[in-house]
Amino acid sequence: MRDPWCKAPERILPLSQLPRTSVIICFHNEAWSALLRTVHSVINRSPPELLEEVVLVDDASTQDHLKQQLENYIQRFNGKVKVVRAKERTGLIRARLLGAAHSNGEVLTYLDSHCECTAGWLEPLLDRIARNSTTVVCPNIEVISDSTLEYMKSGYVAVGGFSWDLIFNWHQIPEREKKRREHMFAPVQSPTMAGGLFAINKAFFEKLGTYDSGFDIWGGENLELSFKTWMCGGTLEIVPCSHVGHIFRKRSPYKWRDGVNVLRKNTVRLAEVWLDEYKTIYYERIANNLGDYGDVSSRKKLRESLQCQSFGWYLKNIYPELFVPSEAIARGDIRNLYRNNKSPSSMCIDSPAKKGNLHKPLGVFPCHKQGGNQYWMLSKTGEIRRDDVCVDNNGGSVILYNCHGSKGNQEWLLEDWGGIKNPSSGKCLALTEAKDKLVMEHCVESEFRQKWLFENYNRTAYDHWKNNNLL
Ligand code: UDP
Ligand code: MN
Repeated sequence: MRDPWCKAPERILPLSQLPRTSVIICFHNEAWSALLRTVHSVINRSPPELLEEVVLVDDASTQDHLKQQLENYIQRFNGKVKVVRAKERTGLIRARLLGAAHSNGEVLTYLDSHCECTAGWLEPLLDRIARNSTTVVCPNIEVISDSTLEYMKSGYVAVGGFSWDLIFNWHQIPEREKKRREHMFAPVQSPTMAGGLFAINKAFFEKLGTYDSGFDIWGGENLELSFKTWMCGGTLEIVPCSHVGHIFRKRSPYKWRDGVNVLRKNTVRLAEVWLDEYKTIYYERIANNLGDYGDVSSRKKLRESLQCQSFGWYLKNIYPELFVPSEAIARGDIRNLYRNNKSPSSMCIDSPAKKGNLHKPLGVFPCHKQGGNQYWMLSKTGEIRRDDVCVDNNGGSVILYNCHGSKGNQEWLLEDWGGIKNPSSGKCLALTEAKDKLVMEHCVESEFRQKWLFENYNRTAYDHWKNNNLL
């Protein structure tokens, strides 16, 4: 899997200078073959002198093969592999902490329970931590096909980011980072980590307060660890020379908690503790429905005692590519002012902004005031966007397209009479008579189907923009 560059002996410190690691694998009702594939690949492809142990953490699985059958099977590893069992379902995050409590290695390496480690995966990870114990590292995570279970080598390296609904996403390596590195396979600094596969010095993890143990089942912990690594003196890297395959799921295969929005709760805790004034951007996206997120005072104290940098510092220095909506001219829902007797409700521009929604006509839906798919931002450069996706006038129809930053079909001007005009075509955004879709029309100031109102306007930004952009 490795490029020859990665194999050159001078790349990596001698094994005797690398720290030993515990490999911690949490699982809840994992398939036998997937779990054992993970374990065997760790055992077969890690230098024995670097592998302290493999700790399997059973998060209260109910499937039979994960009980006595598993205990019997691991006998063959002569004590290298042990099983720790949670008494009741505790969720991925607390299961990882349970694993850490039973680990003896200087470094903790976490893997999901459906991975394959490839030859040479471990050494380049431990090398980075040996050089600096505050460096947190992730392998290049490659795809194991969920239909054939084949390892799909890609070699492509991406970095982690997030959108303002605080969901992790992947990006191309930014130009500034390409320039900083001396070689295309050298470690890449990444604003965030995907979360399942990484290695960290145990003492540094503890210094950072490990994870917020108030996080349940799944989600948010990867951003928590990413933010605090950077904000509290560490570095987060992806190591392209280390290749580990992971089966990416299409949907979550196991049961979550009934009646609780687990991910929302975790994410609100994350925002409360780490986002400073930027938390309101996330809260607007969820229409300020914070729900009951429990007590975060001990996590705030932790942050204070570590004297970490602000979230503003993180955005400016670690993730300058991220579009920050508080600099937007207008944001919230985009309401049309046209009414008719057939359907008296007012209509808002409405669409999810996932990959599958790109290049498709943008929808409208009665305004619901819940943020989510009706939350848009008008940027200083005239884009109407959510995260990386922009409203695009594609020769008459109105679609979603990846933001390209070069105006044209993606530039929108607010007219004093309520119009939203695309200057390159000279046309205006209009709701159809049937109130069922968006079209581009010749601008008519008196036409209510062309009048739109954003939920919020940033006055100073708006005035500045108006003065400078010939509104
Ligand atoms: N997991 C767990 N307890 C839970 C949920 C997940 O131990 O309540 C384990 C799961 O078996 C897997 C890892 O945590 O090994 C990450 O979960 P998953 O693979 O579902 O996350 P994804 O990779 O899809 O983000
Ligand atoms: Mn997984």
